[in-house]
Amino acid sequence: MLLSVQDLRVSFQTNDGVVNAVNGVSFDIDAGETLAIVGESGSGKSQTVFAIMGLLAKNGTANGGVRFDGTGLLTLSEADLNHIRAEQIAMIFQDPMTSLNPYMRISAQMEEVLILHKGMTKAEARAEAVRMLDAVGIAQAKSRVTMHPHEFSGGMRQRVMIAMALLCRPRLLIADEPTTALDVTVQAQIMDLLAEIRTEFGTAMILITHDLGIVAGSCARTMVMYGGQIMESGATEALFATPGHPYTAGLLEAVPRLDRADEELRTIAGEPPDMSNLPAGCPFSPRCAQALPQCHGTRPALDPFGTGRARACHLPVAQVA
Ligand code: SF4
Repeated sequence: MLLSVQDLRVSFQTNDGVVNAVNGVSFDIDAGETLAIVGESGSGKSQTVFAIMGLLAKNGTANGGVRFDGTGLLTLSEADLNHIRAEQIAMIFQDPMTSLNPYMRISAQMEEVLILHKGMTKAEARAEAVRMLDAVGIAQAKSRVTMHPHEFSGGMRQRVMIAMALLCRPRLLIADEPTTALDVTVQAQIMDLLAEIRTEFGTAMILITHDLGIVAGSCARTMVMYGGQIMESGATEALFATPGHPYTAGLLEAVPRLDRADEELRTIAGEPPDMSNLPAGCPFSPRCAQALPQCHGTRPALDPFGTGRARACHLPVAQVA
């Protein structure tokens, strides 16, 4: 087991009270595996991975268990966590400027990482930086490695960030909405690139996204979150073909499709829940068109069903629409 997350809970102290962003999330990832975590904004998916990475805001607290290759991350010192973050787990973000320094040449930023964490000489580090830029499809990498981030287009900057993230050959890559700011063609190129790189380096990946359109074909497993909890999880193909939860079904309905004549964009009615005041029962109950009387008072447990699937819902699977 590469990463094991057990009963993870994340809360934030705010002026308006305690916000419970993640409420008992458990999942595992093996070496080389791919997992998509999907859900609307505020579902807790990003805070789940920020907690894993030790990157919560100062007013945030994480409880539960997070083990990476057997090492507990939540209790690790900042120095030890820095090592793991630099060498074993890498993260890429929607905005590349989150991880690139706009004032430094790309070469200096990449060389610094390799000299510090891999003990390379400057010449070795430069050669490796060029090789990685080349691997992510930056043409004329040898001359462009000395450019500043602003000299690259949005899609190219994303490629540079991926090259930076993979410099130390991490065993786990966490991609948080990596293509949201890009146009559809560049989005597809970046997802293809991530798939190629993952295969080449054998990297496991967690993809965080609200866009189910990019999940199919890029992740073997999918975990659907709502109200800081897992609503459904399972093999992506099966989950897309026969959703076992009304929220999953709603998300899939909201994906624009070319084969539908009535091209009105479908949405899930209602608003995401107030995370400082979650409903007593199923967090999705105020928006669920199929809610049963017990849904409003009793929270459904995440129970296994089918082959390797799990769902948290009182409604029989066959009735989910
Ligand atoms: Fe809907 Fe009830 Fe299932 Fe929640 S538990 S998704 S409210 S049917």
